[in-house]
Order: sequence, then structure tokens, then C-alpha cells
Amino acid sequence: MQFNKVTEQLIAELKSIVGEANVLQDEEKIEMYSRDEVSDKLWEKMPEVVVKPANAEEISAIVKLANREMVPITPRGGGTGLAAGAVPLIGGMVLSLERMNKILEVDTENLFMVVEPGVTTGDVQKTAKSYGLLYAGDPCSADSSFIGGNVATNAGGNKAVKYGVTSRHIYGLEVVMPSGEVVTFGGKNVKDVTGYDFVHLMVGSEGTLGIVTKIWLKLMPLPKYVADLLVPFADMQSAIKVVPKIMTAGIIPTCLEFMDRLSIKAAEMYLNKKLPYSDAGAYIICEIDGSSETQVQDDYETIGKLCLENGALEVFVADNMSSQERIWKARKCYAEAIRMLSPVYCMEDVVVPVSNIPKALEAIERISQKYNCKIPSCGHAGDGNIHATILREDRNEQEWHDLKDNVLDELYEAVYALGGNLSGEHGIGAKRAEAMDKHMTEAQLNVLRAIKKALDPNGIMNPGKLLKLQ
Ligand SMILES: Cc1cc2nc3c(=O)[nH]c(=O)nc-3n(C[C@H](O)[C@H](O)[C@H](O)COP(=O)(O)OP(=O)(O)OC[C@H]3O[C@@H](n4cnc5c(N)ncnc54)[C@H](O)[C@@H]3O)c2cc1C
Repeated sequence: MQFNKVTEQLIAELKSIVGEANVLQDEEKIEMYSRDEVSDKLWEKMPEVVVKPANAEEISAIVKLANREMVPITPRGGGTGLAAGAVPLIGGMVLSLERMNKILEVDTENLFMVVEPGVTTGDVQKTAKSYGLLYAGDPCSADSSFIGGNVATNAGGNKAVKYGVTSRHIYGLEVVMPSGEVVTFGGKNVKDVTGYDFVHLMVGSEGTLGIVTKIWLKLMPLPKYVADLLVPFADMQSAIKVVPKIMTAGIIPTCLEFMDRLSIKAAEMYLNKKLPYSDAGAYIICEIDGSSETQVQDDYETIGKLCLENGALEVFVADNMSSQERIWKARKCYAEAIRMLSPVYCMEDVVVPVSNIPKALEAIERISQKYNCKIPSCGHAGDGNIHATILREDRNEQEWHDLKDNVLDELYEAVYALGGNLSGEHGIGAKRAEAMDKHMTEAQLNVLRAIKKALDPNGIMNPGKLLKLQ
């Protein structure tokens, strides 16, 4: 694919579409758009220009221009991605959705909310709550990720065990297609099989098939009772072996998370607070919600008993907001806390069937010992989703790249042998495009390439992301 540089003529045309103030070229102002949350210079690149449209019509005009000029577009939400998806690695323009941050409608009769893509996930959650309703998407980055970014990555998060990942909460999308045409699929109907399921093709497409400009979100009744359990175990294997047991005990927990010893230590350092049993080998964190207090109590007692029978050191129950917040602070700070151990790291997002989590963690331990490197792990145990994080520590550039290559090769081999996959929720972006090419069959890749080619024949939408550049 041959792309062109952004010209002065193109800049002038962009300014006439979005206004001068919304076209950024000043190095200081565009620097923050040169990276996402991947902590490695390899995945950074300055945009040639950043453009901040206010609506779908402006985006449509920009996309038509980009097609005419063969200039790539990298859509950007909150920039919290962990796959270098929002980084303009091939050059061209970054199209930031930050000005499209309005909640357009809350429909309390049909239990829907209609929002623009630049609303933060946290604001979606808070708005729903103010109406006594629940928006169940809950990535740990909710305070800063955008709902459009959650759609584009099909974000998971903590409550996915019970309520599912982002795709389960989306009933309709307005999208500016790579041609510049604005289309809407779905909306307020709960059921809809009118044609191909385009909505769920767009969800998780990482900005490679179009730009999401409006979202119809599902809302649910807010659960009346919530309780959280923090359960320390002496070692990782005892902790993780209890997960399939909880999942088959006839209860659907809202969240079922784990943290290993190093993750607990990192959280303690980051929060600068003593955590309970901080020398434990692992924590299991479990949330139960429901509309009956007795039911919630029965469920957490069953889970607590199961944990104690399987080696738990203690079971702490948090049934009020402040103690619940304390527990979740430790879990939710993982991505930031890990920097206390090593400022540069490679956070992975592998996923395996839940029953294979103990074997996946055994493999991670074996790889960590073989290469003499630290790989703290934490994640969404109830979904089989492990954020194994390779630490660079004091290795030089070459040693670091060699280590990453070797560890990732072995990690992915192990995960595939266990029936798993490369990414559960963070997506492929640029960071895993090469690995995806290696691990998917040619037939699978051909289907994905054919979709991309049909919808984006010039390949201008986020090139090199999800699919390797041909
Ligand atoms: C501390 C921390 C915790 C995290 N926890 C979780 C977690 O629990 N679960 C989880 O799934 N992820 C998690 N993440 C990763 C990240 O927050 C998610 O991937 C999130 O969905 C990205 O949203 P964003 O708005 O920041 O998107 P960005 O990083 O800006 O972009 C991500 C991708 O989406 C595309 N995109 C963005 N907006 C649009 C749009 N409107 N139309 C089309 N394409 C678009 C971009 O081109 C890019 O490919 C975490 C990250 C951090 C830093």
C-alpha cells in the first residue's frame, strides 16, 4: 500500500472543515497523540497532523479527503489502549474523537442510552447510575477510556463474567465508513436480524473498518446488593485452581479476578498502603450482586466456603462502598503499579478456557524461570484472561528485544496448545499484528482481508492495525 504525506493544501482543507483551532501541528500539542499506554518507544510515532472533528458530517468530509489524497487515518479515543492501535505508525493524521463527548439520550422506558464516542466510560456508568440503572461495561481504565474506544476494542473488564464484554451492551451504531458514507445499523430494538450483523462486525474492528460516531447502549436495572470478597492464598496454584470450582458451583459471580504475588507487591508500592496478607502468593477477588440481600449473602458464603476448603488463608468480606473501593483500588491500579517494578514492560492479554488457567499459569512460571525474567500476572480469572507482563528491568535494548521475542513465542505456543488465543480484550493493534498473522490460519486471514478490502479498498483506515500491512 502506497500512502502520501499530509500536504499544506490538505491542512488548509482540514481547517475549512473543522475550524483552525481543531487542526493541530504544533509538536508540543501533538506529542501526546504519538503513543497509547504501551510502554515501549517501539510503538510510538508523531502524527503529521491531529484533527478534532465535532460531528459525523465533519468526519465524513475528512474521510473523503483522506481517500482522495491517499493519507492514512488513525482514529483515537482516550488513548488508553494497550496494543498501539491509536498510534499513527504509518504516518498520516490522527482523528481524535475527544470533542464528540455528549450523552444524547437516556431512555428509561426502553433501557437505552445514546452517546457520542468521546464520552468516557466512567461518565456513561455514572449517568446510568444517576437514573438507577447499570451500564455493565467496566474496564479498569473506565475513568479515562472513551466508550467509542471500548466499542472499537470490544473491551472486557471486571464485570464481563456475569454481564459479558462490550459487544453485549451495544444495540446500534452510527459509523462513518471508509468511503465517507454515514450509515446506521441497529438502534433501540432488542432483537434485530435484519441483514448481516454489521454492529458486531464493527465492535472490535479497532478503527480499521470505519469510525464509530454514535452508540446505542443497553442499560439494566442497578443491582440492589453488592458484596466483594478478597481472598488471599499461600500460592498461585491453590488460588487459581479454585476458579473453575467457583465457576461450576451454580453461582455466576459478577467479577472473578486474580493477582499474583508480584502484582500485590506492585499495588502496595503504588498505593503506598499496606495490603492485607501482602506476602500471600495470590489474591482472588470476587464480586456478587443481586436484588436480594439473602441471595447475595448465600452466594458469597458458598464461595467463601469453597475457597477455605481449597487453601484460602482467610476470606475478607466487603459489603459497604468504602471497603469495596479499597479492594478494587488494589486490582484496578495494575497497569500503573507495574511501572513501580519496571518502567518498561510488555503487558500481554492471553486468554484460555477457564479450566486451563492453572496450566497457563504453570507455563508462565516455567517460561519466567527459563529466561530468568519476572512476569507478574493478574487478570480476569473468571474469563480465563491473563495479563502476563514481561518486565524489562535493567536489560539493554537488544537484550530486551531478544527476551520479548523468545518469551512471547513460547507464551503464545503454550496458550494455543491449551485452546487459547492471543488477546481476550486489549485487541491486536499494531503490537500483535505479526503474531496474529502467524497464529491464524491462511483461510481465517483471507476472510478478514476480504472484509477489509471490500469496505476499505484504499486501505486508509488505521493501516497496519489488526491485519499486518501486505
Ligand atoms: C490502567 C488500564 C486498565 C485497563 N483495563 C482494561 C480492562 O479491564 N479491560 C479492557 O478491555 N481493556 C483495558 N485497558 C485497555 C484500554 O483501556 C481499552 O482497550 C479501551 O477500550 C481503549 O479505549 P480508548 O478510548 O482509550 O481507545 P484508544 O486507545 O484511543 O483506541 C483503541 C483502538 O480503538 C480505535 N478507536 C478509538 N475510538 C474509535 C472510534 N470512535 N471509532 C473507531 N475506532 C476507534 C483506535 O483506532 C484504536 O485502534 C486498560 C488500559 C489501562 C491503561
